[in-house]
Amino acid sequence: MGYTLMHEHIYLDLSAVKQDDDCLLNAFDLMVAEFKQLKTLGVERIVDVTNIGMGRNLAYVEQIQQHSGVEIVSATGCYKEPFLPDWFYQKTIDDIAHHFIEEIEIGIEASARKAGIIGEVGSGFDGISEAESKLLQAAALASLATGKMITTHTSLGRFGHEQLDLFTNMGLSAEQVIIGHTDLAGDRDYLQQLLDRGAIVEFDTIGKLSYLSDELRADLFSEAVAKGYQQQLLLSVDITRKSHLKANGGIGYAYLFTHFLPMLFERGVTEQDIEVILQHNPNRILARQTAL
Ligand SMILES: [Zn+2]
Repeated sequence: MGYTLMHEHIYLDLSAVKQDDDCLLNAFDLMVAEFKQLKTLGVERIVDVTNIGMGRNLAYVEQIQQHSGVEIVSATGCYKEPFLPDWFYQKTIDDIAHHFIEEIEIGIEASARKAGIIGEVGSGFDGISEAESKLLQAAALASLATGKMITTHTSLGRFGHEQLDLFTNMGLSAEQVIIGHTDLAGDRDYLQQLLDRGAIVEFDTIGKLSYLSDELRADLFSEAVAKGYQQQLLLSVDITRKSHLKANGGIGYAYLFTHFLPMLFERGVTEQDIEVILQHNPNRILARQTAL
């Protein structure tokens, strides 16, 4: 398997909560065209971290996969407040975990498509709320039962340690967890600490310059590579809006290859490092099963 983008969305609908039609990502033809271009750059697989409450749309995903030729991996889980479905609040942690496990082992919404990862499960700007704690605990139980990795959402990169504490207290090893959006923290020491704990650290908001410059992203990332953390690093673009697509004036998915990788190479990252980060790490992560 060639390169894998580990944190993307295929069909995503956060438009009702965000009161913004741009947050309905449903530009089928544009996405297929961009994915075909990604294939020429070596991308063979994309992980769709859209889950329950985010407008996950399996029929659409199947069509995108068929038309683009890029394999799409689906996810189970719920996102964070205020995107949790009403039923979530009535159910126990065990019930919710059971639902996630069924989506991994049997299939999602009565389809044959099984979830290959748990996420993106997350927390807000002020930390992990009570409901989000319940969500992360259910995700941990599902991961323990199935061996599947957890991939998280952090708001502006914050509270990664608290997420990791919750997971390790539940019996997961840190290597079983991808902390998402960590680049947004823009904090060298914070990244180092997460890596030292053994977590997978994801730079997945490449090109979102209103939050952070790509120069700083590239500096932080290449420093982590230079320190030998290649096996704990992931890269993705996290396109979530119609306006992020190239034809709509956005950066598009290929930006990672045309703009960001050259910045890493300038800073001493090698082709071999990129192979580990975009190929070997995703292969290892997605192959995980329970050791029976
Ligand atoms: Zn996210």
